[in-house]
Amino acid sequence: MTAQDLTMPVSEMNGIGPERAKTLAELGVHTVEDLLFYFPFRYDHYEIKDLSQVAHNEKTTIIGKVHGEPSLSFYGRKKSRLTVRLLVDRYLVKAVWFNQPFAKKQLNVGDEITVTGKWDLHRKTITAAEWKKGRRTGDAIAPVYSVKANVTVKQLRKIIAAAWRQYGRAIPEVLPDSLLKTYRLAARAEAVRAMHFPKNHKEIRLARRRLVYEELLLFQLKMQMFKKIRRERSGGVAMRFKEEDVRRFAAGLPFSLTDAQQRVTQEILQDMCRNQRMNRLLQGDVGSGKTVVAAIALYAAVRAGFQGALMVPTEILAEQHAASLHDLLTPQGVRVAVLTSSVKGNVRKTMMRALESGEIDVVIGTHALIQNEVRFHRLGLAITDEQHRFGVMQRRHLTSKGHSPDVLYMTATPIPRTLALSLYGDMDVSTIDQMPAGRQPIETYWAKPEMFSRVLRFVKREIAHDHQAYVICPLIEESDKLDVQNAIDVHAQIANEFSGTGINVGLLHGRMSADEKEAVMEAFAANRCHVLVSTTVVEVGVDVPNATVMVVYDAERFGLSQLHQLRGRVGRGNAQSYCLLLADPKSENGKQRMRIMTETNDGFRLSEEDLKLRGAGDFFGSAQSGLPAFKLADLNHDYRTLKAAREDAAKLVEQPAFWTDKDYASLRRYLEDSGALQLEKID
Ligand code: ADP
Ligand code: MG
Repeated sequence: MTAQDLTMPVSEMNGIGPERAKTLAELGVHTVEDLLFYFPFRYDHYEIKDLSQVAHNEKTTIIGKVHGEPSLSFYGRKKSRLTVRLLVDRYLVKAVWFNQPFAKKQLNVGDEITVTGKWDLHRKTITAAEWKKGRRTGDAIAPVYSVKANVTVKQLRKIIAAAWRQYGRAIPEVLPDSLLKTYRLAARAEAVRAMHFPKNHKEIRLARRRLVYEELLLFQLKMQMFKKIRRERSGGVAMRFKEEDVRRFAAGLPFSLTDAQQRVTQEILQDMCRNQRMNRLLQGDVGSGKTVVAAIALYAAVRAGFQGALMVPTEILAEQHAASLHDLLTPQGVRVAVLTSSVKGNVRKTMMRALESGEIDVVIGTHALIQNEVRFHRLGLAITDEQHRFGVMQRRHLTSKGHSPDVLYMTATPIPRTLALSLYGDMDVSTIDQMPAGRQPIETYWAKPEMFSRVLRFVKREIAHDHQAYVICPLIEESDKLDVQNAIDVHAQIANEFSGTGINVGLLHGRMSADEKEAVMEAFAANRCHVLVSTTVVEVGVDVPNATVMVVYDAERFGLSQLHQLRGRVGRGNAQSYCLLLADPKSENGKQRMRIMTETNDGFRLSEEDLKLRGAGDFFGSAQSGLPAFKLADLNHDYRTLKAAREDAAKLVEQPAFWTDKDYASLRRYLEDSGALQLEKID
């Protein structure tokens, strides 16, 4: 028997007809190997207990002797009930089978049988879910597989058992001896056996441990391989700028950098000086000050004779970044431009020409930056802000506009450690884990929507102290389907409430034209508008440090990370800031989210909670997450294994032996099969 057998289609196995093969295919099982690696999602544990110890409605297993003739009755159209009296120790009890009339023939008086099912204490009756003739010794652990119509768990168990008997020995080991020894891992075939036919719980645990490690190691090997190849590929340019010059620029900023900002700036500048391409993720909680770090990197790139681009997800953010970068860079002679879809006609044409000829040094823009018409003279640094808002392809597009430009992704959605290690396993990560000095933690409260007028009084008081407020609504206008607050109505209501007070209430939503939006944002930034009623268009990046109140309507409709982003719009200056969540969540999950928000300001903790509450698929929107579908690994539980696998993978790809030694042949084959060794697949 060879490994070849494992690739045989299941339809060629005995007893698997076309119908069943189709059903198995729906479960993702095409080959014998798929079948053997189709693992249970849980186990039923049947303990043989003394009947006097079994509670009402508890599932149990008993061994008894058939004490009388079974009686079979039919009712309804196809339903039947088979009842038999059993002698269990000294008790006489009843066992009932529903819709299994054929069992009658197999039950003879005096037979010993093992029955598993729910125990009705009052009627002294067990309803048989499973049974077999004879005495089963010891506890039984039964694997439960997820199944579809046309195949039952029981049938699947049989099919897998048959596959195991015939092909189990063909399962090859893929891990090298050295790793098996280091972690004392079970052999691969043995682990597969234990997953399907465990003798006890310890076996399952050890099998799972081995298979999870394997899964994560293979995944990380691929990541580390990408990283290594990318690093070694020539084509990256070493930027030459004078360190002294960049230091002087940083020293001229209106504030001094935090230690964390200095550290990450160094990491980025060092990458840029190397003749390898930078591929770095800069993460830092909202308000931690990523923009100036980007500004310094852009400045350095320009001084080295390159162009820089900063791509952001919204026009509002593009305008805002453009304004602040303009303030910082223009006095240094850096030519800054902003490109969005509202830049049209001749202005656009001129800008395209200037980018291509190199007359613009730094361009800030939205998706407009990745249009085909946009060509650079010498793009050396491509930065994507709020990178999780872009798809993988969009991010790559920007990169492809230069000849191997250095790449920096920035994100304010703190990524749970587990996701960071898996999603960004092939990137270097810099983290700003410190807020600028003088920031006070935002106070967060959760209130019922009925308290809105009290909330408004509070807003009024803050405005009297010359501060400003946001009010966020989930919808733009009234919807007959959803009973949620919409920005237009809420704006009207608040404007009415505040009329005659001199308080200006502005409205912002995604359906306004770019000019309108810009005008409103400008008024708010200049404190001419005091309350901004908005949809989540302000969610990312918007920076008005004078705003101290964030009111979120129907807060239960938002995810934790999104609420944290919204909350991050305040607390950006030195004044005490507040976040007021108006919510009346019905679900326990919703209540839990509100509670967590009031308990912590720590974006990392929130994102981990979010991951737990929503699951990894939903975290980024599954389509873009780029997360592989792990069979067994659970990124929440298996964090330590993931970390170990990552370190092992990184070490392995750097070892010469890994590329030649026989012991590593299967791992190498895996990398080949997965395409990780094909250079052209790597951007
Ligand atoms: P984010 O990381 O969320 O993008 P920003 O870059 O928008 O944060 O910075 C938030 C605010 O903090 C801005 O007003 C910025 O000018 C200010 N800021 C950044 N770094 C510092 C610092 N070291 N000291 C004081 N204020 C800072
Ligand atoms: Mg930002």
